Amino acid sequence: MTQYVYFFGNGQADGHGGMKNLLGGKGANLAEMTRLGLPVPAGFTISTEACVAYFKGGGHPDGLQEQVSEALTKLEEAMGREFGHETTPLLVSVRSGARVSMPGMMDTVLNLGLNSDNVGGLSVASNDERFAWDSYRRFIQMYSNVVLGVDHGHFEHALDALKKSRGVDVDTALIAADLRGLVDTYKGIVVDATGSAFAADPRAQMWGAINAVFDSWNNERAVTYRKMEGISGDWGTAVTVQAMVFGNMGDNCATGVAFTRDPSTGERRFFGEYLCNAQGEDVVAGIRTPLSINGDASDTLENVMPEVYGQLDVLRHRLEDHYKDMQDIEFTVEKGRLWMLQTRTGKRTAAAAQRIAVEMVGEGFIDRRTAVLRVAPEQIRALLHPRLDPEAPKNIVAKGLGASPGAASGQLVFDAATAVEWVENGKSVILMRPETSPEDIAGMAAAEGIVTARGGATSHAAVVARGMGKTCVAGCAALMIDEMNRTVKIGDVVLKEGDVVTIEGAEGWVIQGAVATIDPELGDDFQTMMEWADQYRRLKVRTNADTPGDSEVARGFGAEGIGLCRTEHMFFEGERITAVREMILSETVAQRRIALAKLLPMQKGDFEGIFRAMKGLPVTIRLLDPPLHEFLPGHGDDVSSLAATMGVTVHELNGRIEMLRELNPMLGHRGCRLAITYPEIYEMQVEAIVGAACTLVRDEGFSLVPEIMIPLVSVAKELSILEALVRETADKVIADHGVHLDYLVGTMIEFPRACLTANEVAPHADFFSFGTNDLTQTTFGLSRDDSGKFLPEYIDRGILPNDPFGSMDKGVAELVKIACDRGRSVKPDLKLGICGEHGGDPASVTICHQIGLDYVSCSPYRVPVARMAAAHAALAEE
Ligand code: ADP
Ligand code: MG
Ligand code: MG
Repeated sequence: MTQYVYFFGNGQADGHGGMKNLLGGKGANLAEMTRLGLPVPAGFTISTEACVAYFKGGGHPDGLQEQVSEALTKLEEAMGREFGHETTPLLVSVRSGARVSMPGMMDTVLNLGLNSDNVGGLSVASNDERFAWDSYRRFIQMYSNVVLGVDHGHFEHALDALKKSRGVDVDTALIAADLRGLVDTYKGIVVDATGSAFAADPRAQMWGAINAVFDSWNNERAVTYRKMEGISGDWGTAVTVQAMVFGNMGDNCATGVAFTRDPSTGERRFFGEYLCNAQGEDVVAGIRTPLSINGDASDTLENVMPEVYGQLDVLRHRLEDHYKDMQDIEFTVEKGRLWMLQTRTGKRTAAAAQRIAVEMVGEGFIDRRTAVLRVAPEQIRALLHPRLDPEAPKNIVAKGLGASPGAASGQLVFDAATAVEWVENGKSVILMRPETSPEDIAGMAAAEGIVTARGGATSHAAVVARGMGKTCVAGCAALMIDEMNRTVKIGDVVLKEGDVVTIEGAEGWVIQGAVATIDPELGDDFQTMMEWADQYRRLKVRTNADTPGDSEVARGFGAEGIGLCRTEHMFFEGERITAVREMILSETVAQRRIALAKLLPMQKGDFEGIFRAMKGLPVTIRLLDPPLHEFLPGHGDDVSSLAATMGVTVHELNGRIEMLRELNPMLGHRGCRLAITYPEIYEMQVEAIVGAACTLVRDEGFSLVPEIMIPLVSVAKELSILEALVRETADKVIADHGVHLDYLVGTMIEFPRACLTANEVAPHADFFSFGTNDLTQTTFGLSRDDSGKFLPEYIDRGILPNDPFGSMDKGVAELVKIACDRGRSVKPDLKLGICGEHGGDPASVTICHQIGLDYVSCSPYRVPVARMAAAHAALAEE
């Protein structure tokens, strides 16, 4: 018989922390904390296996109900109270918990087991009538919402109306009689909404809640979250049923959330929030503003309950010692007694991830390789985000809590749906909410940044934003949000939907208008972490750069060379385009050479600049690639001056322009095909490249090996002809300069035919560089510029797992692999790399590592991302 239920309590547990797949993160860690001897209320966890079986078979798997009954009996024994008992009822929570943490995505029900028969008993047993009715009304609201699907707005309205009629601001000011009346109102709401009375039988309640937690695995927000985080839908959730402890029994009670280190900055300090006389999600829901557990204020947990704080601080260190990572914990204090309700690896910003990893190596908790694995390559990208220019003028209209650092600008929106819609229409938005809830998740993902009026640094908004790497300002009390009219009043300022705002998530600023940004400051931790990453990676990382400026930025980020320098970008600058047009539109070779001669010194100067910036590191220069029509005058342009320069009539010139137009230029007369027809173009470019290199060698003592790359080869013969041309030209230039210079000639692989015949192509190439953008287009027969019309639907419907231009497709990867194998079969020392955008995408970098390429090349700001991704790929292999 399969074991579906795992008990924990009194220092012993069936499960342990290593069983996350089966017990969910929450269940596994409750078992682990119990084994460690931490104060954890007893309970039992129903495995994810039961959930999966429940979905498959449409009901409870055999044995589940019996096992739950047995565990419940054991729980009653452990607690000395009986579930559903009239005078001393045992109450439980029914909690969800998946293999990986999905904060707030699924459902939890507290205070389960209460009914009108035993609420009086609870009141007598606890000697606290107010507490009993408070627990009951909370239970009805949560159960009705989670299990029966009644909108919680109904209950909140009733609560607000009651508070108003009693003239109080907070629910803690309501007395027992008020809450008793509220229970009746709530029950009426349930009858109105569902047509039947609220369930009284505790066992029926429990199974209702268990099933609802199972079902919550497939609720809309959980599905959205999983899609975003790439979590499998097949895992299911575990369910933990646990004896309740109560933070709502008066002022010596509390509930709170804490991180063992600061999740924003990574600083090693205990960081958390709590509320007195409160329960469960009160702290993160943002309904009451929580207080800091420590710090300067007088109402901290440290001041109000010093003993409890002291215990918590001890547990904080024990948990870090045990888990060797920053923990996010939930605790409740019942009548001065501390209980631990959850621990998990804390979500943190990129900056915090990096700092914690580096410091934990110093503190002896972890080794370097673990530290490297703790910083996701995507997080490196977040570290490179720009920050606000300190010198720029800023109209700060409000200040809240800096909940997730960074700077973000965008148009103000007040709901998640609008955020998603506007972003789909190409806008950038800042999402402003009174507080966020899991329903807002898609809007938060779409927004550049998030601002809330309520809630603290452990609120839903703050935790989720940090996990997503989004800037967030929380608990900005000055915001008077009018959701109906889509405006916010802040003092005298009124902002409306669509107004541009900027937020700064370290200081907690909300700023009217846009603010200039500057490059980030990369501190010592960054350098340390990247050096460690470099020790493990095997792939080299180069950059795609066309200018000396870009080259320098990339070298600063650790680029080990240029993998792709596109010469055509140089053709658009200033006066050059006229010479380029002349060259293209020439009818005779002699004419064309005159135009090329004008371009030669300019190109030579460009290459000198780039070689200088790269200080001898390898530089791969691609010869002219794009279709010529990209350089032609447009239909509206005046061609008379060009005609005059070239000594032809406007009529003649227009004729030539028409002749050059192509129906499908991307697959037309471009790349090496141009050079087969007009070899003098490549001749000039080679003269410029090699001439520049020779000049630097001769005059400035450089040592460098230029790499000349011929694009768009599909047939080996194309390359053999052009290789000969390049070498002949280069050797002549070298001889003319009277220096020694080595150089490489290679090809860009962008067509399936070149991949499949790589063994024929390789003999003519020193290197292959995969242009995976074009290779993706030609593998799929898919135009990147037109795919926006249907690709999103393909991804939504699961026809493709993701955008193949963003992350390398497996078919494309297979072609790359074939080309590498076949190329190396005839030339074992063939140098292999990729230069498409994929070079900066972590998943694609992993593929490149696995295929065994020598390097990836990506845009300058992606270089550190690729370095980290390459380290992760290598470490994953060990
Ligand atoms: P989530 O995954 O959304 O954090 P939890 O299952 O952790 O949901 O429950 C939410 C909150 O309910 C917890 O923060 C905790 O404070 C409270 N809670 C859960 N179980 C109990 C319990 N047995 N006794 C007291 N409070 C509980
Ligand atoms: Mg929790
Ligand atoms: Mg290309």
